[in-house]
Amino acid sequence: MKPTAFKKLIEDVGTLSASECIEAKKALRGREQEVQGSLVLREAEDAIKTCPYCDCEHFTKSGVRDGRQRFKCKACSKTFNALTGTPLARLRMAEKHIENAECMVDGLSVAATAERLGVAFTTAFRWRHRFLRSPQKIQPLQLTGVVEADETFFIESFKGQRKGLPRPAKVRGTKAVKPGLSKEQIPVLVARDRSSGATLSAVIASRKAKDIGEKLSPVLSDDCLLCSDGYKAYGVIAKAKGIQSKSVPAKKVAGSYHIQNINSYHSRLKGWMHRFYGVATKNLDNYLGWHRMLDKDNCMDGKTFLNTSFR
Ligand SMILES: [Zn+2]
Repeated sequence: MKPTAFKKLIEDVGTLSASECIEAKKALRGREQEVQGSLVLREAEDAIKTCPYCDCEHFTKSGVRDGRQRFKCKACSKTFNALTGTPLARLRMAEKHIENAECMVDGLSVAATAERLGVAFTTAFRWRHRFLRSPQKIQPLQLTGVVEADETFFIESFKGQRKGLPRPAKVRGTKAVKPGLSKEQIPVLVARDRSSGATLSAVIASRKAKDIGEKLSPVLSDDCLLCSDGYKAYGVIAKAKGIQSKSVPAKKVAGSYHIQNINSYHSRLKGWMHRFYGVATKNLDNYLGWHRMLDKDNCMDGKTFLNTSFR
């Protein structure tokens, strides 16, 4: 927009009625999302280095379709755009992606997201899980220094599944039938590097040393110190890895040895998950990845979330 025209627009704001202000706000918001969405896309276009099909570095621009720049590979002759080969490639209505990302930053339920975006529940659901494919995979490469580790539990859920239920359906939010730990409780491992705050969180098959170790051992640095509540699996893992370990009963502190960071992470995670009234166990890792992202950066905006989602 020309500077003089923009100046005039701002001046005219002073003449708007209350109802016109509401309408103008809506139009501005829509425009802002459109611009931000295309900025993310532009950055992704600039970042393309190779053809997603054959990895060739030589390609040329080949027209624009649906607002997306297309490219043509000189080696395999296939055409592609910035989203080809990413989890978001097959999602239509790219103009809504930034708004969807904002809903995810706000931690909205599928129903609330569908309403805000003006799309069907099933569409919002599909987008959600496509957006979470990348965040789910992003885990710390290494945990160093004092590393706290402990498990937390989520009730097994077959939410959204209509056929082949292994047990009669429950009303959502129902407590576990059996008290304490049982097969109905799905264990989630959380391990946190105390100094950097880097956090691993993952569904584990069981609380056996083998299953905890499978997720935990590869990311522990050789000189770290593993702090746990004394559950024997951690001692087994530390011994196998040849690292130091300390066990302190939960809620106790012995000098710098404690798992308070994990305890508070667990309560943040549980508090955040509460809004979903239980999530299907098969999607739990997606939600853990989503929470990791938001917990790591509490100033995250839609643009950053969207960028991560199609990595
Ligand atoms: Zn190619």
